[in-house]
Amino acid sequence: MVDMQTAPPLCEIPDRIARLKEQIGSIAVNAGRDPEAINLMAVSKYRPAQAVREALSCGHRLFGENRVQEAAQKYPELKATHPELTIHLIGPLQTNKVREAVNLFDVIETLDRPKLAQALAKERDRVGRCPEVFIQINTGQEPQKSGIDPLVADEFIKKVREEFQLPLTGLMCIPPANEEPAMHFALLAECARRHGITKLSMGMSADFDKAICLGATEIRLGTSIFGPRPAR
Ligand SMILES: *Cc1c(COP(=O)(O)O)cnc(C)c1O
Repeated sequence: MVDMQTAPPLCEIPDRIARLKEQIGSIAVNAGRDPEAINLMAVSKYRPAQAVREALSCGHRLFGENRVQEAAQKYPELKATHPELTIHLIGPLQTNKVREAVNLFDVIETLDRPKLAQALAKERDRVGRCPEVFIQINTGQEPQKSGIDPLVADEFIKKVREEFQLPLTGLMCIPPANEEPAMHFALLAECARRHGITKLSMGMSADFDKAICLGATEIRLGTSIFGPRPAR
């Protein structure tokens, strides 16, 4: 397990990012991987824009949000001052929010059903551009969790590529809270390998070390960068 230490005050965010990058580097090297192949995503859900600015101040550019509405309130202004900022959607996407999501996000990591793929393709045809998409796989087959069932993931990946022709570049998973995450990361990596998909979004504050060892290219850290999440 990763040592989660105590919550940093806002001014320590750049410090935490620097230390995490060192930690990521040494985990990668020990696992025989290139540290440059691992992208640290700062998950800023429920955090004020000021916390994001703190991260931006030390050169950090990759962020994740799990709600379209919250990202729409925070990010347009931040993007205006930092055009190189990249923002990923990592929470469930409803079809009625597709237009806003396509407009706002650089990567949508949570494609998980044909109806959503169809809505994304339709919006892509309308505006003439589309964010990169990752498919979220519900590796633990949890009924309350979004993500496509692993049993039909192969078929869905083909459909997204061939029928909808979306720019599919990655897979994403959130393992069940009370299970060993390694087998879920391995399942995701194996599915990606089968399909020649190169990006793997997996690993959070408590388990990113294991995710790196199993091939993660995007690790999504909230708590270990910004401290304990404030209640909503
Ligand atoms: C909140 C969230 C994270 C970050 O979790 P931490 O444990 O705070 O690092 C990562 N991925 C997703 C999908 C999330 O919703």
